[in-house]
Amino acid sequence: MNRKYRRTVIAGNWKMNKTPSETKEFMTALKGMLPRGRWCDIALCVPAVCIPAAVRAMRETRVSIGAENCSPNPSGAYTGEISTGMLLDAGCKYVIIGHSERRAMGETDQQINAKVLAALNAGLIPILCCGESLEQREAGITSEWIAMQIKLALLGVPEDKIRKVVIAYEPIWAIGTGRTATPEQAEEVCEHIRVVVRKLYSSKNARAISILYGGSMNEKNAYELLAQPDIDGGLIGGASLVPEKFVQIIEAANQPTD
Ligand code: PEP
Repeated sequence: MNRKYRRTVIAGNWKMNKTPSETKEFMTALKGMLPRGRWCDIALCVPAVCIPAAVRAMRETRVSIGAENCSPNPSGAYTGEISTGMLLDAGCKYVIIGHSERRAMGETDQQINAKVLAALNAGLIPILCCGESLEQREAGITSEWIAMQIKLALLGVPEDKIRKVVIAYEPIWAIGTGRTATPEQAEEVCEHIRVVVRKLYSSKNARAISILYGGSMNEKNAYELLAQPDIDGGLIGGASLVPEKFVQIIEAANQPTD
């Protein structure tokens, strides 16, 4: 992390877990144990039906609510889809875009790019996910793959909007597997992402953008991962479902930085 230049973000990704009633229970418990210090931004990205309950519960707190997906289209005949304008109006601040689980369902780089642009136009903060498979890592093409995902996802994002984008590096082999990237492995790729952003935009923008790590981050490994200079937070799946664990990760972000 480097709090001097950029925001630290601890974001949860609930995936398809918890009902609206369970959301209310979780938020009530979290509210009761939230640390007072403001060393990081906190977000919980929840299933669409849980957004109203989450927003209501966290209204007077510093916890922002996000969605796990959005439509690239503003409105119209897209049954089952939810637009960025709807998410904003429902009280969301963030939206996860391009999660590997959605890519595995067929989401393309082109659609991800359109969603990033739609989120930025609506005033939402996109949490843009990228990450390599184990096969790609073992073939030694991680850097190229990540650079390609980032470049395609950011096509057409203007210079004055790039700082609003949060990028999450999530190696697919570490998501939900309990197998975390080592702090060195995670740092290497996050640093590389910053270089890619620098080449596309500028050093100032690259220095200001928040890059998160995600992939079995938990209350035990968070401190060491967050101690890396280019890891500005975490996107947390499993451990964000348990208030005690999520709070411990928030507390791990309270450490000295350069
Ligand atoms: C995720 O879903 O983005 C994630 C990182 O999950 P987990 O923390 O459970 O690996």
